[in-house]
Amino acid sequence: MTSMNQYKLSEKVRNFISSPRKMLINGQWVNSVSGKNFNTHDPATGDVIVAVAEGDKEDINRAVAAARKAFDDGPWSSMTPTERERCMYRLADLMEQNADTLSELEALDNGKNVAIARAVDIQVAIDYIRYMAGWPSKIMGSTLPLSVPYAPGAKFLGYTLKEPVGVVGQIIPWNFPALMCAWKLGPALASGCTVVLKPAEETPLTALYIGELICEAGFPEGVVNIVPGYGHTAGAALTAHKDVDKIAFTGSTEVGKIIVKAAADTMKNVSMELGGKSPAIILPDADLSVAIPGAASAIFFNQGQVCCAGSRLFVPDSLYDQVVKGLAEVANGMKIGSGLNPENMVNPLVSQIQFDRVMGYIESGRAEGADIVAGGGRRGDKGYFVEPTILGNTNRDMKVVREEIFGPVVCVQRYKDVSEIPKLANDTIYGLGASIWTRDISNVVKIVPKIRSGSVWVNCHNVLDVAMPFGGYKQSGFGKDMGKEALDSYLETKSVCIMS
Ligand code: ADP
Repeated sequence: MTSMNQYKLSEKVRNFISSPRKMLINGQWVNSVSGKNFNTHDPATGDVIVAVAEGDKEDINRAVAAARKAFDDGPWSSMTPTERERCMYRLADLMEQNADTLSELEALDNGKNVAIARAVDIQVAIDYIRYMAGWPSKIMGSTLPLSVPYAPGAKFLGYTLKEPVGVVGQIIPWNFPALMCAWKLGPALASGCTVVLKPAEETPLTALYIGELICEAGFPEGVVNIVPGYGHTAGAALTAHKDVDKIAFTGSTEVGKIIVKAAADTMKNVSMELGGKSPAIILPDADLSVAIPGAASAIFFNQGQVCCAGSRLFVPDSLYDQVVKGLAEVANGMKIGSGLNPENMVNPLVSQIQFDRVMGYIESGRAEGADIVAGGGRRGDKGYFVEPTILGNTNRDMKVVREEIFGPVVCVQRYKDVSEIPKLANDTIYGLGASIWTRDISNVVKIVPKIRSGSVWVNCHNVLDVAMPFGGYKQSGFGKDMGKEALDSYLETKSVCIMS
């Protein structure tokens, strides 16, 4: 039944997937009200890993009721900030103790490289819970020097209180399942909110494992509820629920638009981290020994299933042949295979649907006249492996340049002069990330302010840090994950005015 392929899984992972997984509601592991389960699959083989309880409207109702109670009358809101901090530090410690298990589970469920999952996904998730654990005792309002011109002679004291938004529905994607879970839970818990989290249907396992650690860490019941299920059922029910105060979403721009519209009916606070078509821009003076491998990892990391992937690569005419040749060498040299073997640097895409989508885009690029410089095909006849693919001589009108592919496919465009760069970089509906590759600081100073995106990297790409806010401009969304700014979207500001 299970997809053990040729890799021996650890005992903890084997135990975890040995029987159907339940959902976490009000501190209890329960089946869905309907009794239905859905299967999660190993992307390297297509085999079923394990069945998972399938949440729907009724389960969401129960989870929201539990979160509401924990927020309105439960111990969470009456705990002191330092008590909340201690819970969060305990969770981070437990995640660290279970880091290898979480990494293996992530590699199994998502397909990604297990060593990279350990070093990046899981480590940053742990660091972020710890970073956020430090905040509860440091969230402060301010005192306000009031004038009140129409009350002469009266004395006033004005100040602001920062208060948690309330019950938060969090809907996350499948590309970094545990990391997205931490990105969402961290600021929600630090600010004192309670949560109903819906992991992606493709990858529910690490969120459920973290759920077990949350119980072990001693969070009061109902503070975190985890309801796996599909987007159009569980996700839509969460978005529409009248007792949910905020929706935090990471996923496609298409679904983000549906959620913003649905959330408008009850005027929920929303934050959206959406798609991208991020430019990586090699300037004529760039150090190519850094820029070529950098541009390759900008797109091929996590099989290109990264919202800020450097999917549009701009290269000056003068360097075009050299850069494309170097990139092709990197792409052709990458070992393709299961993520459970850490030597495999190109792993399967997450699902059949994603595989078909990406292959469709490659065909579209071919049909529109792009050069297939490297890759372009499937690898093997089992699992969802797509070769790292370089589409050369692309232009702004091609579908592959305009739309987010979310796969290991880079579109290389030529340019003539550095003065064209801001216009080329901004020629997209998205604005999530961008990178500039140069040795000349004056290029950086001139170009960075002209790029309309939430992150700009110089001589690197996809660098994310717990202290650095991350989020989009334009149709890449609004509200920030990470950094102190992530807290802001989970806090209300109350103005208090006292007349003496
Ligand atoms: P991707 O395109 O990366 O698969 P999606 O944006 O489709 O990402 O999905 C991201 C998350 O949004 C998943 O948890 C999915 O279940 C959820 N989702 C999809 N459709 C809806 C919807 N209509 N309402 C709420 N959540 C949804």
